[in-house]
Amino acid sequence: MDIFSLTNKVAFVTGAGSGIGQRLAIGIAEAGADVAAFDMPSSTGLAETAAAIEALGRRCVTLQGDVTRGDTVAAAIATAERDLGPIELAVNCAGIANAAPAEEMPLEQWQRMMDVNLTGVFLCAQAESRVMLPRKRGAIVNIASMSGSIVNRGILQAHYNTSKAGVVHLTKSLAMEWVGQGIRVNSVSPGYTSTPMNLRPEVAEQVKRFESETPMARMAEVDEMVGPVVFLLSPAASFVTGIDLLVDGGFECW
Ligand code: NAD
Repeated sequence: MDIFSLTNKVAFVTGAGSGIGQRLAIGIAEAGADVAAFDMPSSTGLAETAAAIEALGRRCVTLQGDVTRGDTVAAAIATAERDLGPIELAVNCAGIANAAPAEEMPLEQWQRMMDVNLTGVFLCAQAESRVMLPRKRGAIVNIASMSGSIVNRGILQAHYNTSKAGVVHLTKSLAMEWVGQGIRVNSVSPGYTSTPMNLRPEVAEQVKRFESETPMARMAEVDEMVGPVVFLLSPAASFVTGIDLLVDGGFECW
């Protein structure tokens, strides 16, 4: 099925050192692309990501920085293009999660969440568009969350939920700005997924409830995010822009 192939394209993936972003970076390489894998300098997983991609016979460059720094992201994209060629695909997956009662949340905690999860996605999409628009070719997938359209029962994360709702609407807004210019922008909203994010102490007690509240009665595996993201990046989705693709095991039906 060539329409799902990403062969000989170059992808820029943020949050590529862990969890969903790491699996997506490898999955995009499995679909045929070379990958620029971006994560925080503190991330220890980028070497593992690169080794897995290179074992597939694809090229990988690893890049370090913070998505809240537009200049750093732009420099990383320039390095990626120098080493791999023109970037045509991008997945903005870097994100954080934590919890606190809204009435007690320090402004710094709220602000950092917005800076990473929402402004970070904007800055990455902006930098990606600056290389894609002159070529009139590109597909961007932002990783939002079902928390952008539901409130997770029992989890006190108004800042996280709000940031993800912002990602969903940012995605639609950018999709419409660039709709006539060859750039498609979509989001994927995972449900509860088995990653280090769900090993946080504050959610440890809740994992069993996550599973029982999900109609499919389990969390997603990171592998299950690959198909939806590859689809949206691929020619198979050539008429798809501005959507939010829920990958939630039926969660939002109940
Ligand atoms: P994770 O913690 O395993 O991976 C997140 C990655 O993002 C890490 O490698 C981290 O270093 C990187 N990152 C964080 N802040 C960054 C920054 N400022 N600059 C650059 N990189 C940064 O988490 P995950 O579960 O794989 O989550 C990935 C994405 O999926 C997030 O956006 C998250 O909100 C979203 N998501 C996760 C779930 C879930 O259940 N795990 C559900 C819905 C959505």
